[in-house]
Amino acid sequence: MHKLTDIQLLRLGTTLHHIKKANPFYWSRYDTDSITSYEDLAKLPFITKDILRTGYPFAFACAEPKHCMRMHMSSGTTGKPIINPMTENDVNQWGEMVARCYTAAGVTSEDIVQITPSFGLFNGGFGFHYGAEKLKSFIIPMGAGRSLLQLQFIKDLETTCLCAIASYPLRLIEVAKQEHFSFKDTKLKVGIFGAETWTDGMRKRIEKEMGIESFDIIGMTETGGVGLGIDCKEHDGIHVWDDNYIVEIVDPETGEPLPDGTEGEMVLTTLAREGLPLIRYRTRDITKIISREPCKCGLHTVKVARLKGRTDDMLKVKGVNFYPAQIESILMDFTEIGVEYRIILDKKKGKGDVTLAVETNGISDENRDRLETKLYDFLGFRVDVQYLKPGTLERSAGKAVRVVDNR
Ligand code: ZN
Repeated sequence: MHKLTDIQLLRLGTTLHHIKKANPFYWSRYDTDSITSYEDLAKLPFITKDILRTGYPFAFACAEPKHCMRMHMSSGTTGKPIINPMTENDVNQWGEMVARCYTAAGVTSEDIVQITPSFGLFNGGFGFHYGAEKLKSFIIPMGAGRSLLQLQFIKDLETTCLCAIASYPLRLIEVAKQEHFSFKDTKLKVGIFGAETWTDGMRKRIEKEMGIESFDIIGMTETGGVGLGIDCKEHDGIHVWDDNYIVEIVDPETGEPLPDGTEGEMVLTTLAREGLPLIRYRTRDITKIISREPCKCGLHTVKVARLKGRTDDMLKVKGVNFYPAQIESILMDFTEIGVEYRIILDKKKGKGDVTLAVETNGISDENRDRLETKLYDFLGFRVDVQYLKPGTLERSAGKAVRVVDNR
């Protein structure tokens, strides 16, 4: 087991003391505020989305609304939402984390930053905003949608850094093609994308089409928003700001801590949050710890692998467990196949239980065979692949829809 650093131990003690002082109900989950090692931490109970939901709206809050400046809300599709009330210090901490992310991506005060996630209950827009404000970059606070205007501003206002939900660049690329808009004629050089799983194959396509270097940013409303980590110019893992967050990887079934290098569920402890401090929060994101050594980029933090998916995204068909991202990785090896696709799960129906709808302008019989064989090799059963004309599948305005479950 690894050791907690001095700053982690100090801030963990402060965080526990803060919960104890601020919220007896929340504190009743714990029976110690004397944590002196990682082993002590690992004895504390997890906190989950479901537990936080039962506390809607403010049962777990550790600051009164009058001491808070704002809230954000998790975008859960079922049940009660999770609200994160943020104090002034929280908003500052958030901005600081995102500013570090921009810096890791090479963004400075000289840059023109176009922010395309929405400004609202979803944390994305504001997170990118606070970080860019700290850097004193020039901010274009676009919010979601309006793709034509987004493109116009990228060109006319000479945007250098584009911030987006990971599937949105695909939409922009599509609109650009329809409008005969060329990213080559722009100053765009950096893309910072997150909030969804996106594969290396997708990443290569976006970078090639837009002529940019892209960075994978992670974070969630519950832990204080986007920006708890980002990959650096080495692109071999995601730095997590471990003076502000403790990362653990646990077995999603048993909750047992896993050694570095083993894939499991990421568990986060916040070290500098006031409104909603979290001890051992189960994120449901699947990843592993890649390194704790100093990185060639100069940063010295723990590094995790790019997120593979969420525990609740895992699909089970014919006894085979897989993530949508694994299917996407296979698809993106075929340049004839577009970036919009659907994994459709049906009740038993002749050929198979899974239909994969993809878009293509045309694909040779040989490559069809190659694709279907690759899918078979991965899944162990045949998939019914439907080849549709580009533009057939419905485009989503927010997060991408990849799976349709009709079972
Ligand atoms: Zn690095």
